[in-house]
Amino acid sequence: MHQQHTRSDFRSDTVTRPSPEMLAAMSAAEAGDAVYDDCPTTSALERLAAERLGKEAALFFPSGTQSNLAGLMAHCGRGDEYIAGQQAHVYRSEGGGGAVLGSIQPQPLPNEADGTIALDAIAAAIKPDDFHNAMTRLLALEDTFNGIPLPDDYLQQATELARAHGLATHLDGARLMNAAVATGRDPAWIAGWFDTVSLCLSKGLGAPIGSLLVGPRDLIERARRVRKMVGGGMRQTGYLAAAGIYALEHNVERLREDHARAQRLSQVLREYPELGAGEAQTNMVFMTPVAGFDATAFTGFLAERGIRVGGYGTLRWVTHLDVDDSDVEAVARACADYF
Ligand SMILES: *Cc1c(COP(=O)(O)O)cnc(C)c1O
Repeated sequence: MHQQHTRSDFRSDTVTRPSPEMLAAMSAAEAGDAVYDDCPTTSALERLAAERLGKEAALFFPSGTQSNLAGLMAHCGRGDEYIAGQQAHVYRSEGGGGAVLGSIQPQPLPNEADGTIALDAIAAAIKPDDFHNAMTRLLALEDTFNGIPLPDDYLQQATELARAHGLATHLDGARLMNAAVATGRDPAWIAGWFDTVSLCLSKGLGAPIGSLLVGPRDLIERARRVRKMVGGGMRQTGYLAAAGIYALEHNVERLREDHARAQRLSQVLREYPELGAGEAQTNMVFMTPVAGFDATAFTGFLAERGIRVGGYGTLRWVTHLDVDDSDVEAVARACADYF
């Protein structure tokens, strides 16, 4: 472990702090004014991301919420509509930004357990071109969804369905690299089904701040205007972009380690059926304790041992750069003592 930690923090993969190597890359960065498009390191990160995801252009954002918003607003205008999962981050967890700031109507549809939205539900929700209706413009999917990579054939079927109806496609790929590593697919293959893709650097990739929106140049230029409007045009972002370059160059393949640790964690938790733990496909384990089990007492017991877990009702364990095998074994010992 690169830093002394008093806790095993499984709440989220957003809790990581930059490693000494990443900090060294940041402090050595060359930075200029990125709003003037005059920051060599930010431009290098944008080129690298565009290349890794097989797109023409990329733009650096302070957060995934903002890169998703700019993606929505690049595709949709006032009175247009986007289709997304009822549980999708972009619909549920981003303050309704598409509606508030873009005047874009969301059309949420139920997510299946594997994160997909039924194709017939999508087809039925696409409104005919009639003056009574909002104009359905965009299908937005999320990969990974609750730690589950979208199935290969679904990526193809859903995006082909959208295109056949003249819809654009956006992927909230906050954890796209986890999906790529878990499925063995090239990230550019996954991104290739979509017009625009948002990727978080500050989740499992371990950068402190930053997301990227990638896509065709004309859409990225529209997104640049949105970014400016919402205050995301930042100046010497080269220091942050250096962390992003470091993350893309060093922290993608190692996501396998997080996935293996999540599997081990799932094994540990599944020894206790009352916890209702599921399996791990990438870096997350969800557990819904059985009725009558005092989850608050259990998480309180873990907290006394410095182990933190996310969520309420359904609890979420996330592995990342700042938890190692000893943290997982600490959970195993804590569970053994508790039960
Ligand atoms: C984290 C996350 C985002 C973006 O979150 P920010 O905290 O704004 O960077 C978007 N979508 C999903 C699925 C996420 O997990």
